[in-house]
Amino acid sequence: MAIASAAVIGAGLAGCECALALADAGVAVTLFEMKPGRFSPAHTNADFAELVCSNSFRSDAPDSAVGRLKEEMRALGSVTMRAAAATRIPAGKALAVDRQLFAAEITRRVLAQPGVRVERRAIAALEAPGSGERNPELAAYDVTVVSAGPLASDELAASLGRLTGEEHLYFYDAIAPVVDGASVDMDIAFWGARYQPEDCDYLNCPMNREEYSAFRQALLDGGRVSAREFEEERHFEGCMPVEALAERGFMTLAFGPLKPVGFTDPRTGARPFALLQLRAEDANKSMFNLVGCQTKLTHGEQERIFRMAPGLARAEFVRLGSMHRNTFVNAPKALAPDLSLLAAPRVYLAGQITGVEGYVESAACGLWLGRQLAARACGFELPLPPEECALGALLAHLRRPARRFQPSNVQFGLMPDLGEKARKTKRKTLYAERAESAFGAWLDEVRSAGQT
Ligand SMILES: Cc1cc2nc3c(=O)[nH]c(=O)nc-3n(C[C@H](O)[C@H](O)[C@H](O)COP(=O)(O)OP(=O)(O)OC[C@H]3O[C@@H](n4cnc5c(N)ncnc54)[C@H](O)[C@@H]3O)c2cc1C
Repeated sequence: MAIASAAVIGAGLAGCECALALADAGVAVTLFEMKPGRFSPAHTNADFAELVCSNSFRSDAPDSAVGRLKEEMRALGSVTMRAAAATRIPAGKALAVDRQLFAAEITRRVLAQPGVRVERRAIAALEAPGSGERNPELAAYDVTVVSAGPLASDELAASLGRLTGEEHLYFYDAIAPVVDGASVDMDIAFWGARYQPEDCDYLNCPMNREEYSAFRQALLDGGRVSAREFEEERHFEGCMPVEALAERGFMTLAFGPLKPVGFTDPRTGARPFALLQLRAEDANKSMFNLVGCQTKLTHGEQERIFRMAPGLARAEFVRLGSMHRNTFVNAPKALAPDLSLLAAPRVYLAGQITGVEGYVESAACGLWLGRQLAARACGFELPLPPEECALGALLAHLRRPARRFQPSNVQFGLMPDLGEKARKTKRKTLYAERAESAFGAWLDEVRSAGQT
């Protein structure tokens, strides 16, 4: 299908990246943004690409996964990276910006691009009222990109739900912490699933009564993040914060997520009093999710309290837990590899709403979609970046079937296993070096084919 025009809904990080990449290739873009007529509960600035919380794009170190992703974005001409460079403020190894100047700089760049026409209004639906036909406001465009973010307007989110099937659209994140497998003390933790000691998908941290009691008490006393007004304090029973379960009674956790039934601790030959299960997050078994430990504890408290669990004293946290409003699709079920909706192939998703997590990842996703559609507009198909590089690994996360799909930051654990038993620092370097050369080879290939 020829692509000469595109409607982009939402001028956040992803939408601006996508709109500019398309316009650079000669595609006529209309960028719809509901601000300032309407603000989400977290947005306050009328400018585009608003950073709603932290002003940091996290580490810029070349041996971190997010540092690699930034390098790849720079190579692909990211407007986020250019605006960040222009508005950077000192923050050690992190890339932090003056958020007002950053948003103003992106807005200036978008408005200066004659190929992007901005309409300051909300798009309420992707389909026409009461029918499965396209919304007539969007039908004139060859493609529609939905980059309305984690706080997309309710009407648009409902419309997306109708298209994907309600069961493939989520409105809430309940994230348990994830630890680096190499940091788990294997003199204490042991492999095995319930009644299946030979299973190697779970690591188990056994607790005696005293350890359990201290762990529960710490959960009760731990400092918590106060919910923002717009984050409904509504929890599904299977998704309760671990500290809320602890409040219900001394044994609630031991009968619930810390249930020891079906396990024998190889060190004692007996069933432990309670047991924290760690489930492998990736095929490499390099990262492990603390099962049932979705939490609203503050980040500092999470590190302190979960390190009290036997086997986790020196745990390195790859990701900390959180529970907040987040609109995102079950990407492996709802999206094609090119980020189009399986149910509506002319509609594409970009940014956090796809199931990537974070400012940098959302921008990278929008940039990738823009470059991919721009290539199509010029008559060729960009090959997917390899999974060994940061962008390729992030996109692969959206395709990988999962029991319960959850958004992800970019991490080395999303990349194919290195098969190295090196020390942690060395491992990071090896992943980063491989990512750099894989991305470089991919870029050389697309450049020599005249595709970028
Ligand atoms: C409260 C909160 C705090 C966060 N804090 C961080 C953080 O500190 N660090 C981090 O890395 N990530 C954070 N995130 C996660 C995420 O990375 C950011 O939300 C990021 O801005 C997502 O980028 P995006 O482009 O996908 O969406 P957004 O940046 O949210 O952009 C979406 C745009 O679409 C517009 N829009 C919505 N609906 C419509 C509609 N119907 N019609 C037209 N326009 C519409 C919105 O006004 C907005 O401008 C946070 C998320 C939330 C919800």
